[in-house]
Parts: sequence; C-alpha cells; structure tokens
Amino acid sequence: MDQVASPRAYVETYGCQMNIADGELMEGILEGAGYDIARSPEDADVILVNTCAIREHAERRVLGRVGQLNQFKRLKPQLVLGVTGCMAQRMKDELLERAPYVDLVVGPDGYRGLADAVDELRAARGTGKSRRQLSMVDLSIDEDYRGLEQRRRSGVTAWVPVQRGCDHRCTFCIVPYVRGPEKNREPEDVLDEIRALVAAGVTEVTLLGQTVNSYRHERWDFPMLLTAVSRIRGIRRVRFTSPHPNDVTPALVEVMAAEDAVCEHIHLPVQSGSDRVLRRMLRRHTVEDYEETVALLRNEVPGIAISTDIIAAFPGETGEDFEQTLELVRRVRFDEAFTYRYSPRAGTPATRLPRQQFIPGDVAQERLERLIRETRAIQALINAEDVGRVEEVLVEKMGRDEGMIMGRTRRHKVVVAPGDESDIGRYINVRLTRSTGATFVARRFPKEDPNPVQWLPLPHFEAV
Ligand code: SF4
Repeated sequence: MDQVASPRAYVETYGCQMNIADGELMEGILEGAGYDIARSPEDADVILVNTCAIREHAERRVLGRVGQLNQFKRLKPQLVLGVTGCMAQRMKDELLERAPYVDLVVGPDGYRGLADAVDELRAARGTGKSRRQLSMVDLSIDEDYRGLEQRRRSGVTAWVPVQRGCDHRCTFCIVPYVRGPEKNREPEDVLDEIRALVAAGVTEVTLLGQTVNSYRHERWDFPMLLTAVSRIRGIRRVRFTSPHPNDVTPALVEVMAAEDAVCEHIHLPVQSGSDRVLRRMLRRHTVEDYEETVALLRNEVPGIAISTDIIAAFPGETGEDFEQTLELVRRVRFDEAFTYRYSPRAGTPATRLPRQQFIPGDVAQERLERLIRETRAIQALINAEDVGRVEEVLVEKMGRDEGMIMGRTRRHKVVVAPGDESDIGRYINVRLTRSTGATFVARRFPKEDPNPVQWLPLPHFEAV
C-alpha cells in the first residue's frame, strides 16, 4: 500500500534570538503533529513567517516578503500562509485586512494551538468551503510552553528560553505589549532540557530571556540557575542574553567569575550615555550605575568582553545628550555595539511625546552614522590588540570561503580558520592572525609555524 506523504511546513524567522527559539518551537510543535519540516517555501504546504516588531523597517520588509510568498498560493491553492510572532501580535486583524491572502496570525503566546489551527485551515480547504482566516493573539500570564520541545536547528549550540515577556516599560520598546508580562520557567524543566541537549551532543547553551537576569522562580534566582546550568556534566560553555543592567548583582558577577563554564562575555544594553535620555526612556538606571556595573564585571571577570545596544536620536535627545553617549562609548570601549536610530512603534509611550521633540531624519541619520563610526573604530582597535592571542574556538559551521570554518571564542568573537565539516561541533585552538574589524582570521594552533603572528598595520579610521 502506498504511504501517504506527510504535509510539509516551512518556518521563516526574523528578529532576535528569542524569535529564533520560537521558530524552533513552532517547528517542534508542527513536527509533533505529523508535519515534515521543509527547507524551502517551494516545498511547503504550510508557510509561517515568524516576525519581529522592534522596528518599522523590519515590519515593512516582512510585509513585502509575505506578499512574495503569496505567489506559492497561486500555484498551490491549498497552501496555508501564516504570520506569527511580535508583528502578528502588534497588528492582529489589521494584518489580515492589509494582507488578505494571509490565513493565520498567531502571537507569541498562541503557539500551543498552532498545529490545530493549521489542521483546521487545511481541512476547510479540503472541503472547498469558503476561505477562513484565523487569529490567535491573546496574551497569557502563564504560557511558558511547558512540555513542548524546540526542534533545534544547530546540534552545536542551543538557545534555551528560561523566561518569556517583560515587566519593564522602557518607553521606546514594543516588547512588553507583544510578549506580555514576565513568565519564568520551572528551573527543573530548564535543567532537564539542558541535560537532554548534552545527551544529544550539545556543549554550549545560551539562556534566553528579555531581562534574563531578573529570572526568579520560587526560591530560585538567576545566579542559582546559572550555577546549576554550569555544573551540568558535559556543559562546557554557558552564555545568557540579554541581562538588564539593574539585575547584574554582585551575586551574579561572583557566579560568572567562579564557574568555569560561564563565558567571559556579557551583552549589556545601555541605550544612551545621557542620564536625561535614560530617564525619559525609563531605563531605571543612570550612566554612573551602568559604569559601576561595568567596573565590577571587569574587576571580577578579567578580560570580559562587553557588547551593548545603543539608540541614537531618541525624542528630545539634544546634541549635548548625544555627545555624552559618544563619551560613554569612548570610556567603556565596548567590544561590539548594536546601534539603532530611534524608530517609533505605535502603542509605546515614546510615540506620545510632543511632535516637536522628534529628531529630524537627517539629524538622526547623521548621529547614527557618527555612532557607528565611533563604535566600529573602537571595536577594530580592541580586536587589533587581540591579534596574536591563542583562543579556543567552538566550530559552529562552514565559513563562506571554501576550506574555512566559522566559530566563536569564549568572548563571543567570530573567528574563521582553516578546517572542514569534521570540525563542526569541536573545540579547536587557534592563533588569531588578523582582524578584519569585527571578525578574526586565524590559523590552527599548535602547528609548525616559524612566524605565527602576522601583525597587520592598524586600520585607519576617521576621527569622529
Ligand atoms: S527591558 Fe526594556 S528594552 Fe528590554 S524588553 Fe523590557 S521593555 Fe524592552
């Protein structure tokens, strides 16, 4: 008897690590319901676009992409096209009106019902009933997807959500409105999941949460969870993202210093170098608080790499405020900075600030470009100082160039080095021979090499 082929689902994810983990969760849910996971939209019976709402530009791109994917529905009228994630939650039924060919919108708390919804839509297609659209956008105070498994895309490194949602209300940020309040997973569930990952060969995990270090579950806090994860047999590297500066406590720093598995890297969003702007962003800390936290981290965890997020041209930011941000950047010397121009998101408090406080586009763009130049120049100088170091790299995948692999050091620096498929998932030692600004080129170490360090002249950067 011929076997009936399983329907195939394709999930295309945009945005942050939390969204990537959610994309894996959706694949796990659909696979558990009998779907095969397709590698491209052409092969799929169900296409889900898993979206981000952080910036307007990202939303416009996704709407364009959804329009493109609609072409497959013309070829395959049974196909179900869905939009999931933060943008689905933000736009809700407006999305179904603006893109009437979309069959399904599902917000970040609706994935448990995803397979049933897709089945229902497919069944309705089969009977030739009039087209239905479904919307699942209720936020929940306790949905943490207990009992459901992500279908991991990487066997090398795993993203493990420990917390969903956020209890802060930073005035520029849409996250609390599309992901709801903070919900922390049972610690035992997290530890069991990581033990299972180790059994499957994973040695590096990144604990995920919107303000991951505010994690609290009954008697457990984040330093306790981090300690427990680090001590799981077989775990060699632990990372976490993104911490809120206010919850980087001495207890957390002590764990970072004491536990061998915790990597010497932290991504610590600062957003602005002006107290006036930080107050208006409702970040609940000052520049001085932030720098004290950085000093504590650098004292206790020698060599720690620090990356950050910074927004330029928040409404009301004066030229003086912006200069203070540049000064902070020069003082702290971030290993990496993700820089953004303020993007108003409907529904967030900052959009209600007086119109005249919004920074004109050309000024905002100029500030962003200055910030990018400054942060990149500092990153390149720091990385140039690292050339010559011997580092341990966990190989994640093949590099873009033939015969090269790509991986990361404990300090989260990206390295390309000679290697092949058999290196993926292994730890190798390399000597950093050259920096291209943001990434490193390295050679394997130890190796016979009469002149192991290739010192290159420092790149020239325009003064800002
Ligand atoms: S802490 Fe602030 S920036 Fe981070 S997710 Fe919560 S509201 Fe957004």
